[in-house]
Formats: sequence, C-alpha cells, structure tokens
Amino acid sequence: MTKSDDRYERFCADIKTVGLRMTEQRKVILRVLAEASDHPDANELYHRAYAIDGTVSLSTVYRTLRLLEEKGAIQRHAFDEGRARFENTDAEHHDHLIDLDTSMVIEFRSEEIEKLQTEIAARLGYDIVRHKLELYCRKRC
Ligand SMILES: [Zn+2]
Repeated sequence: MTKSDDRYERFCADIKTVGLRMTEQRKVILRVLAEASDHPDANELYHRAYAIDGTVSLSTVYRTLRLLEEKGAIQRHAFDEGRARFENTDAEHHDHLIDLDTSMVIEFRSEEIEKLQTEIAARLGYDIVRHKLELYCRKRC
C-alpha cells in the first residue's frame, strides 16, 4: 500500500465517521487530495478533480476540505493572507518558504532552527506545542 492509498483510506474513514455519503465525486476529490504532495488551494484541487470527473463541483470540494480539516486530516495554510492552501498532515514537520513573485511554496527543515526555537521557548519558561515558520522571499538577482 502506497502512502497515498493509505491517506485515501483514512480520508474515507473520516468521511464515514461524520455520516457523509461517499459519492463518486467525493472519492475523486479524496483521491486527488491523497496524491497531492504540494500545497494546492481549493480551486486547484477542483481543477484536478474535475479533470478526472466532470461532475465534481467546487462546493463539494469546499465541503470535503472543511470536513477533513475539522478531522485534522489536512492542514490549512493562509500564506501571506492569500487563498487558503491545503496539505496533508501526515508529512514530517517542515517549514515553508514562499516566493512572493511566483507564489511557489518550498518546504524546508532546519535542525538548527528547531533546536534554537526550543531553546528560546525554554528560556522563557515554555515548551513548544507546535510552531509555524513562514519565510516570505524574493529570489536574489
Ligand atoms: Zn508543507
């Protein structure tokens, strides 16, 4: 079983626990979401799903996303207050660099930054529960 098959199964289980009907359209949306390794917004997900099944509607995409977000299966990002983008929550922790000119999102992870953040919080008497680091950048010329 691949990672995306695994996600797909979990998404289906999440949909069932809230008593939503598993329609063909919803299956397509869940499949597209499970296979996404980038940070697509609702519109992009809609286009990917629509390419597979022309009866998928944007409102079903929104409803499905909202539900999975409530279930904690996907994470919503609002980079630079732009359109919400989504990603699977089973990926290893990482931070994001956002290219302001192209809106491209690059994932990175720095052990130094992770360590430094823990130290700063500890110095202030805290344990970090979670954190989000977003770097808004322009390419050097
Ligand atoms: Zn990410």
